[in-house]
Amino acid sequence: MENILQNPIVYLKGVGPKRGELLKKELNITTYEDLLSYYPFRYVDRSKISTVKDVNEEMAYVQLRGKIFGLQSVGSPKPNRMVAYLRDSTGMIELLWFQGFKWIKEKIREGNEYVVFGKPSVFNNNFSIVHPELEEAVEFDKNTNSVFHPIYSTTEKLKSVGLDARNIGKLTRQLISVVENEIFETFPSGILTDLKMISRKDAIANIHWPKDESLLESARYRLKFEEFFYIQLQLLYLKTYRHRAVAGHFFKNVGDYFNEFYFNHLPFELTAAQKKVIREIRADLGNGRQMNRLLQGDVGSGKTVVSLLIMLLALDNGYQACMMAPTEILASQHFETIGRLLQPMDVGIALLTGSTKTSVRKTIFSRLREGTLHILIGTHAVLENQVVFKNLGIVIIDEQHRFGVAQRATMWGKNTIPPHILVMTATPIPRTLAMTLYGDLDVSVIDELPPGRKPVKTYSYNESKRPEVYRFIKKMIAGGNQVFIVYPLISESETLDLQHLEEGYENICQVFPYPEYSVTYVHGKMRPDEKELAMQKFLNRHSQILLSTTVIEVGVDVPQASVMIIENAERFGLSQLHQLRGRVGRGAEQSYCILMTGTKLTREARMRLDTMVQTNNGFEIAEVDLKLRGPGDIQGTRQSGIINLKIADIIKDEKILREARQMATQIVSEDPELILKQNVIIKQRLSEILRNNEEWALIS
Ligand code: ADP
Ligand code: MG
Repeated sequence: MENILQNPIVYLKGVGPKRGELLKKELNITTYEDLLSYYPFRYVDRSKISTVKDVNEEMAYVQLRGKIFGLQSVGSPKPNRMVAYLRDSTGMIELLWFQGFKWIKEKIREGNEYVVFGKPSVFNNNFSIVHPELEEAVEFDKNTNSVFHPIYSTTEKLKSVGLDARNIGKLTRQLISVVENEIFETFPSGILTDLKMISRKDAIANIHWPKDESLLESARYRLKFEEFFYIQLQLLYLKTYRHRAVAGHFFKNVGDYFNEFYFNHLPFELTAAQKKVIREIRADLGNGRQMNRLLQGDVGSGKTVVSLLIMLLALDNGYQACMMAPTEILASQHFETIGRLLQPMDVGIALLTGSTKTSVRKTIFSRLREGTLHILIGTHAVLENQVVFKNLGIVIIDEQHRFGVAQRATMWGKNTIPPHILVMTATPIPRTLAMTLYGDLDVSVIDELPPGRKPVKTYSYNESKRPEVYRFIKKMIAGGNQVFIVYPLISESETLDLQHLEEGYENICQVFPYPEYSVTYVHGKMRPDEKELAMQKFLNRHSQILLSTTVIEVGVDVPQASVMIIENAERFGLSQLHQLRGRVGRGAEQSYCILMTGTKLTREARMRLDTMVQTNNGFEIAEVDLKLRGPGDIQGTRQSGIINLKIADIIKDEKILREARQMATQIVSEDPELILKQNVIIKQRLSEILRNNEEWALIS
C-alpha cells in the first residue's frame, strides 16, 4: 500500500517546485511526513488583537488587524526598502521590509484587510513593524478551530518565497486536512489508557493547530513521550538482542598473566570501587555473551589499571587486546604507563599511531597476525583495515566521547566473533544523558578516588592578582612542585593560538628566568617527537613549568605536578576545566588550580567558574554543564542523534524521559522479542525506525 505520508512535499497544494526545492534545501523537508513532524516552536494567541494606539515599545510582539495601503519602494538611486501602512480604527502604523520585495508586491493587495504580527520598533517617535508576518483577514477567520496560531522557525530564503514563520502554518493546516486519516497510532491502546495519552492523530493535529491550551499540553506530552520512548526502546532492544544473540568470547580462566601482575607488580592496593568494577566486568566476560560496557569514573579514579587487568584476563584466555585513545599524546602515555607496569613480565605490547613509521608498522602488523603481539595501544590508526588480529578478544576505548558509534562498530568487525567492548569515559555524564547516549551499554562506575588524595583547591582570579600568582608559583617550585600553565584555543586559526602561547612563553620566561627555572611548552603544531621530548623533560623534572594549549586536556599523568594555572579560564567549557584540573592532585601533595580570567565575564562564565571553585565532584559539574550548554554542545551527542530530537528536551523533560525509559524497560523485559499481541504495534514502529537508521544498522 502506498503511504501518502511518503508523498513528495511538492505534491502538497500551496508548495510547488520552487518552494519545494527551498523546503528541502533549507529545512530538509522532502515528504509529507517531514513537514508533519516539523513542529512549531511557539504559538500566538489568536484572540489577542491589539489596536494601533496601544502599541508600545515594551511589547515583544503585537498582533494588529486592519487595512493595508500605500505600498511603495523607497530609496534612491536603487530602492532598498519597501514601506506600507496598516490602519485600524485607532490609527496607523508603518510596515517595513528590506528584502523579499517581489513576494510582498504579489502578496499585498492594497485596501484589503490583514492580520499583521511582529515586533514593534520605534524610530523618530514613530512606531513601525519590520518584516511583519501577515495573513489576509479572510484566511485568518477561516481558522476558527484553533485558538493559537503556530509559529515555525524559518529562514530568509524561505521568507522570500512567502514561507515566513507564520505562513508555514498554512501548509501544515492544508497537510493535516489531507492526511488526517492516515496518521496511524504507534502505541497500543493499553499504554494510551494507562498514561492518559491522546491519539497520535490528535496529537499531530493539535501540536500544529491547537484547539485549546489543554489539548496543546496533551499533544506535547504525547509526542515527547513517544520520541523518548522509541529511542529508549531501540537502545534496550539492541541491548537484549545482543545479550541473547551475539556470542562473545569466553574468558573463563584467571591465569598467570593476571595473577602475576596482581600479586607481584601492582604498585598499590586497588580501591574497593576498582575491585567492584573488575568483578562486574569479569562476570560479564565469563557468561559467553559479548560485553558492551561503559566504565565511568571521575578523572584520576584509576581507570587505566582496571583496563590493564582486564586486558591481562584476555591474555590468560589466549586472546589479544587493543586499547584505543583519542589523541597521540594520550595513546603514547598509555603505552608508557602500561609498558612500565608490565616491564617485569613477558608481554608483547606495541604503540600504533598515525606517525608510526612504515617499517615499524609492518612488524606490528605481522606480529599481530602471528599472535606474538598481545596488546596493541593506539589512536584511530588501529581502526585501519590492515590492522588484522590473530584473535582479538577485547577492545578498550578510552575517552569514548571522542569516538562515534560507527567506530565502535568497526572494532566489532575485527574478529569473527565480535570482541568485548569496554568504553571508558573520563568526563562524568549526567544520568539523563548517559541513559540516552549509552542506553545500550551496561554501566560500571568507579565512585571513589584512590586514598590520600586531597581535593584540589581552586581559585578564580583576574589580572590584578597576577603578581601574587607568580609569587605563589615560585614558592611552590621552591618546594619541589611542578606547574602546568594552559592556554585556550581561542580562534579557529592555529597560528593565532600559537601566537598566544608564544607570548605567554616569553612572559613566563622573563618572570621565571633560566637557569634558575626551566620552562617548556607543547602545542598542536609540534611534531610528535618534539612533543614527546618536551613531555619527557617535564616528566623527568628537568623543567618545572609546562606551558601548553589544550593538548594536555585528556589523560596525561604527571603525579608530581601540583599546580594548574588556566589562562583565560572563562573561555573553557566546564567539562574541559574539570578535565584540566584533574591533571593535578594525583600525588600526596596539596594541589591547586588557579583560574585566571578577564574582568568582564558573562553570567554563564561566572557560573562555570563558581561551580569549579565550589566543587570537585565531576558528576555535579556535568549536571551544571548540561544545564548551561544544552546537550547539543556536549561531545558525543552529535554522533548519537539525540540533538535531533524534534520536540523533547533532555533537560527540561527529564521526568518524561524517565517515564519513557521505565515503560520501555518494562515492555522489553516482559516481552524481549516483542511477540505478544499487544506489542505488535510497537514492533512495527520499531522496525520502521530501525530500517531508517543507518547507524543502528551498522551495529546490529
Ligand atoms: P583515570 O581514571 O583518570 O584514567 P588513572 O588511571 O590515570 O586515572 O589514575 C590516576 C592516578 O592514580 C595514576 O597515577 C595511578 O597510578 C593512580 N592510581 C590508580 N589506582 C590507584 C590506587 N588504587 N591507589 C593509588 N593510586 C592509584
Ligand atoms: Mg585516563
